Amino acid sequence: TTVVRLDGVRKEYGETAALDGVSLRIEAGEAVAVMGPSGCGKSTMLNLIAGLDRPTAGLVEVHDEDLGKLNETGLALFRRRRIGMIFQFFNLLDDLPALDNVALAAQLMGVTARQARRRALELFDELGIADRRNAYPATLSGGERQRVAVARALMNRPALLLADEPTGALDSRSGEQVMDLLLDLNQIGQTLLLVTHDRQLAEKCATRVVEMADGRVVV
Ligand code: ADP
Ligand code: ADP
Repeated sequence: TTVVRLDGVRKEYGETAALDGVSLRIEAGEAVAVMGPSGCGKSTMLNLIAGLDRPTAGLVEVHDEDLGKLNETGLALFRRRRIGMIFQFFNLLDDLPALDNVALAAQLMGVTARQARRRALELFDELGIADRRNAYPATLSGGERQRVAVARALMNRPALLLADEPTGALDSRSGEQVMDLLLDLNQIGQTLLLVTHDRQLAEKCATRVVEMADGRVVV
């Protein structure tokens, strides 16, 4: 099954063409790393696939859904149901304990608080952070924060896990742990798309590396 299909995608910001005709397919079970110099359009591509932004032209299809046909409400639902995202700087809520940060993701989907906590605890166990469940983000190490963010991203069993520089803010040891985690997730079938400058991360986790330059896919 094809999870992502981009066809002739163009994205303009004023005079700038951030993406200049990108076509790409990602099959279920792949781990694709997108690499390329700063400003080449990596984040723009990720944002379009996440339904956070719309292309100027071209087709963006994820999990058989043509995102161009969804209105804002449809896109918001699509994001919650199909996409998990992790970021360089974690984006956790500082005034909520780790477990609540994660449980909240499912409660927004209409799951009961009890079910959400149960699923969150399951993930904390799997990710090896169960003992940190009541800690506030500020007291967690970078690696622990990223694992909490991964748990949050996995709450709704997303068809696609998107990661934007997931090791960019981590020391090399925590970075390695997050790489191992992403590798494990992919090996149990999670489809993964990661944007990174980190060649080591790409080589360790990716089943395929896509190189971009000047708004185009070059390899
Ligand atoms: P990368 O993630 O590879 O560093 P980006 O996708 O962030 O590249 O940016 C691609 C190009 O589009 C850059 O020239 C950037 O300045 C421009 N760009 C990205 N987002 C915006 C935006 N919201 N408004 C204006 N220009 C943007
Ligand atoms: P990255 O570190 O992945 O390259 P950036 O710092 O380029 O990310 O971009 C972070 C956010 O800012 C993105 O959502 C991007 O679309 C937006 N952005 C990037 N360049 C510009 C710009 N020139 N004007 C406005 N927004 C931008």
